[in-house]
Amino acid sequence: MDTTDCDVLVVGAGPTGLTLAIQLLSRGVRTRLIDQDPGLPKLSRAIGIQPRTMETLDMMGVADRLLETGHRVLQVCVYVGRRQQLGIDITRADSEYAFMLHIPQHLTEDVLRARLRELGGKVESGVELAGFTQDPASVTTTLRGTDGREERLTTSYLAGCDGSHSMVRKVLGVSFEGQPYPFDWLLADTELDGAGSSDEVHVYLRAGGPPLALIPIDGRLWRVSVPVPGERGGHQPTLEEIQRLVDARGPGGITLRNPETLTCFRCQVRSTRAYRTGRVFLAGDAVHIHAPAGAQGMNLGINDAANLGWKLAHVIAGKAPDQLLDSYGPERETAAQQVMAMTDTMVRFATEVAPIERVLRRATLPLLRAPRVRQRMADRLAQLTISYADSAITRPGSVRGLPEPGARMPNIRLKDGRTLRETLRDGDYVVVGREDGLRGQVLVRPDGYVASVTAS
Ligand SMILES: Cc1cc2nc3c(=O)[nH]c(=O)nc-3n(C[C@H](O)[C@H](O)[C@H](O)COP(=O)(O)OP(=O)(O)OC[C@H]3O[C@@H](n4cnc5c(N)ncnc54)[C@H](O)[C@@H]3O)c2cc1C
Repeated sequence: MDTTDCDVLVVGAGPTGLTLAIQLLSRGVRTRLIDQDPGLPKLSRAIGIQPRTMETLDMMGVADRLLETGHRVLQVCVYVGRRQQLGIDITRADSEYAFMLHIPQHLTEDVLRARLRELGGKVESGVELAGFTQDPASVTTTLRGTDGREERLTTSYLAGCDGSHSMVRKVLGVSFEGQPYPFDWLLADTELDGAGSSDEVHVYLRAGGPPLALIPIDGRLWRVSVPVPGERGGHQPTLEEIQRLVDARGPGGITLRNPETLTCFRCQVRSTRAYRTGRVFLAGDAVHIHAPAGAQGMNLGINDAANLGWKLAHVIAGKAPDQLLDSYGPERETAAQQVMAMTDTMVRFATEVAPIERVLRRATLPLLRAPRVRQRMADRLAQLTISYADSAITRPGSVRGLPEPGARMPNIRLKDGRTLRETLRDGDYVVVGREDGLRGQVLVRPDGYVASVTAS
């Protein structure tokens, strides 16, 4: 069967693909969203939603629904032995969502799917992308259902949101540079006795080797995360094994019971620069993967999609030239590089065992306690420091008292009584100025970043 009545085919209905499809449908773009998965329950993965991502989800009209279910985490506490040496205080983050919202990934996806349905969209489950070709005018894809039946679809654009093993990336033939960490991560999602406050993530560093992290999921369940050196070949852990590691690495007195998931995974750090190849785009884990330290990966993917969505919609509607789409890759690559460098530093800092590194680690901890450094760490973790200042679509030139071009615009209240982000839900650029209490004029992009500022 041949079909053409679609502008964008989104491949992969994880958090990235769902966000992209919502961004497109809410702007009237004819979109299809397919996923090869027939709808089986998935392994529990991301838990933490960062403040900047909550802002993005607010612009999509779903933040309140997530707040109803999610658990607010206010601090990351780092201990050496029993003593707390450092706390990253998320309440310092410069956002009204000054917390990490902890909620299992499948529940976040449920909320996104509900929004998709409200917009008239759906996930076509059990439909796999089997291959594609592109020419200057269109992309032709072959889709295959679980019954083996094939459909040929012609669209204007194709978006590969198909995860770390991305088929779209493979067909494009672009490399995914990087390497695995020399660790396997053992995870237990479990009830715990003696873990401390469930408003905080607790990370226990120790002199002799890799750490232990206790991450509250919802006030009842915790994720216990323990990297172990070497390669286990996928061998799943038992509760007893993880309990022994918790006893050896934690402060003592912590008991695991009633585990819901016990799993082991190998973690890699990899990325590609090919965010756009002609009419084909990559986003989310298809373009970058890294350690789960700091709860960043899903957040990057959602914000990739929010960046790409409005640009595709503007070009398809004829409101902007094709070159607008060229800004997607450089902007999001900068964001991904920052996040990947941060997670890599966290992993190295926490797992380094060589004596000289240990000394350095001890010397570094006091530095990290300085208030300005702590503020910066909170904003970085929150993905609030990501800026598109160097982007080709950002007009340079600062004005005193106004946000910097390329930075994210704070959520001010506008003269009509709505907040900026409520106004951005309409999907277009917004101009804010003196009548809104500013010292000049700011052109705000549909994704909430400052495009330009002027004094008048
Ligand atoms: C243990 C663990 C813990 C994590 N914790 C966090 C955390 O706390 N915070 C955080 O931000 N991130 C975390 N992450 C990372 C996060 O889970 C990923 O970054 C996120 O799922 C990426 O979303 P995605 O939509 O890009 O890709 P995915 O979620 O992988 O979705 C890709 C989809 O594409 C589909 N697909 C693939 N190939 C095809 C094809 N050929 N045709 C059709 N469909 C296809 C797949 O079925 C899948 O549904 C964690 C990851 C792991 C493994």
